[in-house]
Amino acid sequence: MSIGLQYTGHYLSDVGLAVMEIFLGKEHQEFSQEDIERAADWLACQYQRKDMKGYLTIHFLNSGWCNATISEEKKLDYLEKVLRSYKARPLQDRECVYCRQPAQFLADRQHIPLLTGMTTIITSPGGVPGLPVCGYCLMVIQFYPLATLKCQGKPLFWWTPEPQLLRELTFEYYQELSRLIAGGSEKLANSSWPRTRLLEAAEKVLDRYGYDRPLADCIGVHLTNYGAGPDYHQYRIPKELLEFLVEIRFADQEVRESHEAIIKKAWEEDKKPAKKGSAIEEPKTGSQRNAYYEALVETFEDRNWQENISKIIHRFFVHTKPEEYADNNYELTAFFLEKVGGMEKQRLDIIKRIADQIALDLVIGNNEKKWINDLYFREYKPSRFTGYLIKAQKNLAEKGKVFTMEDVLTMLDIYSEYDTGAKDFWLVRDLFLIRLLEMVGKHKKEMLDEIKFEDVSETNNGGK
Ligand SMILES: [Zn+2]
Repeated sequence: MSIGLQYTGHYLSDVGLAVMEIFLGKEHQEFSQEDIERAADWLACQYQRKDMKGYLTIHFLNSGWCNATISEEKKLDYLEKVLRSYKARPLQDRECVYCRQPAQFLADRQHIPLLTGMTTIITSPGGVPGLPVCGYCLMVIQFYPLATLKCQGKPLFWWTPEPQLLRELTFEYYQELSRLIAGGSEKLANSSWPRTRLLEAAEKVLDRYGYDRPLADCIGVHLTNYGAGPDYHQYRIPKELLEFLVEIRFADQEVRESHEAIIKKAWEEDKKPAKKGSAIEEPKTGSQRNAYYEALVETFEDRNWQENISKIIHRFFVHTKPEEYADNNYELTAFFLEKVGGMEKQRLDIIKRIADQIALDLVIGNNEKKWINDLYFREYKPSRFTGYLIKAQKNLAEKGKVFTMEDVLTMLDIYSEYDTGAKDFWLVRDLFLIRLLEMVGKHKKEMLDEIKFEDVSETNNGGK
């Protein structure tokens, strides 16, 4: 028996349905009438809790779920409407905006977040205010708060069109919220750094998700129904980033460990003082920021996201502290650039081949550390970097090693005479540096000890 519940592509009803599936332990196609009755009773019971009532004000403002001043009778009436309108007679000629089935209810802001108030008419169809919805969609939306984490005072949750992934991501915050509720405090703990919280959850999900299950573009939705105006923000997490984070788990040990080192190094302590009057100690994990995770998510908030990818390489993948030389890993960097940055493999291979020749034949073979020194300290302008390449080419040619003009053009991503912009010289230079530090660090580390690097992540414009 199939009940009128379905994924509709709308984030509020989709995450609500995912919560129901998690609670009932089955997919919605398997739900029976008793199942959804049981889920509705369970939800009503969950929302009785004092901490949840407080939390529900930012989801369903002034609603029967959380309004302390309305009568018991009105409250029961409200619950019946939001949880059991699927039994009501359809409205004439109105279809549900989510699933296109006949609508049974006109919802406003107390039933569904981000709508206007009950009596507010803003170009309502036929002059009748309210959003037409069917009883099932209205019901599943009531479950969505259990898919959210309170972050900066606002609900944060995941949405993706891929149901398996949505269920797993939703389960992560559902579990976290259950854990917080079980703590028994009067007020729900608030976390911070939404971008970090999102990728932290994604990592946990990907740990158990497996290699061959479907991935998709995701968004992290951060909204509140509280306050006078709409308050909505979304963070885009592209499929390619998730694929990178999955595949890196199956990479060679060195590659994997280099990436783990980047994440570990990027954790920062929260220096913000505790909020005044806040009696609850916030959980440490919920208030810590990871600079790498923040930068990754921020990357895709920008139209020029490809430039941001180069900045991430500069800031997180180049390691110039002596104790971190071993973390320079060209394979990892190239994999990231190919997967997340969409860079061509051929280009990355040529850069590696030429950097290898410089490392092996000139730095190690000729014992000339100037090839690292110059690259790091002097070749920061495109014109100088080209000069560096010409010098390298000349010196390598003396040893019978050649790279061609075509190699250089591919490496610098120059395809025609019109293509003269210094597009990403910085990136190519950083890639050279990563490979040179990796190779020389491995085979002749003492040469690096004589070079005094400044911390590139501090001095250059890697950060935002
Ligand atoms: Zn519907």
